[in-house]
Amino acid sequence: MKDPTQIRANVVIAGVGGQGVILAGNIISDVCIAYGLDVKKAEVHGMSQRGGSVSAQIRFGPEVHGALVEKGRLDWAVGFEWAEALRWMPLLTPKGTVFVSTQEMIPPIALKDRVSGTVDYPLEFLRHPRVRAIDAPLVAKEAGNVKTAGVVLLGALSTELPFSREAWAQAITHRVPAKAVDVNLRAFDLGRRWKERVTPHLAQMPQPLVRQVELHLEESWCKGCGICVNVCPERIWMLNEKDVVETVAPERCTGCGLCEKLCPDLAIDVITHLNSSAMVHEGRNVLWQPN
Ligand code: SF4
Ligand code: SF4
Repeated sequence: MKDPTQIRANVVIAGVGGQGVILAGNIISDVCIAYGLDVKKAEVHGMSQRGGSVSAQIRFGPEVHGALVEKGRLDWAVGFEWAEALRWMPLLTPKGTVFVSTQEMIPPIALKDRVSGTVDYPLEFLRHPRVRAIDAPLVAKEAGNVKTAGVVLLGALSTELPFSREAWAQAITHRVPAKAVDVNLRAFDLGRRWKERVTPHLAQMPQPLVRQVELHLEESWCKGCGICVNVCPERIWMLNEKDVVETVAPERCTGCGLCEKLCPDLAIDVITHLNSSAMVHEGRNVLWQPN
């Protein structure tokens, strides 16, 4: 691997609001600065609060003159959301790599009439030879908190950069709340093991892929406002006698994510996965193999 004090590279983190894109960019910057590198960073987060695009471009090297990555100069794209990563493909170098979560987060405007079942995101993207697709929420869950999915992807990215695990751990420890350090470090270390979890021989990726949805409710955070009850197109939520919501027919959930986006108390998490039988494609594209 290259001398970490001489490496010159361009990285983009792309996702949607609330996924920790800016945090991840800060962690990468901290690691580079610890090695004495010059770092320039540009962020876009104007529509972040309600599921809009968020990105962080990080350029580092012995000397860097601008923050924006030019077409054909992107070494790594890290997509916290599948479609957001897709936008950056044209900027990749011929050897550039994309680490991408297979999580979908569809903007509310695109949710009308959406039904569960087959995946309509562009499957060709997952088959691209430069793409490493990881079921990051599933790995994060294994680490202990689904919200660490972005750190799982940082762990995967770290295996391609010449910085020590300790430098990454220090940056994570510095950037996340003290009570979340352990779970984030676990997520990071699981992400670093992504190559071990590749299935060597792959049949064709099954067609169609099927989306699986999990609903999580933090009851103690629910104030009973009823917003989720009213917005859910499938009428899955109802208020009980304690004025806390509960699910009445979770199997009808399409994973549209409206309830999660509109809950003012952040009490709901909607996690989508692709079907676990669709693990890997020709040994290149990795969907996490659970232990
Ligand atoms: S939107 Fe959130 S706070 Fe309101 S009822 Fe639903 S879960 Fe509870
Ligand atoms: S429960 Fe939430 S994610 Fe599922 S269909 Fe209803 S609004 Fe969409």
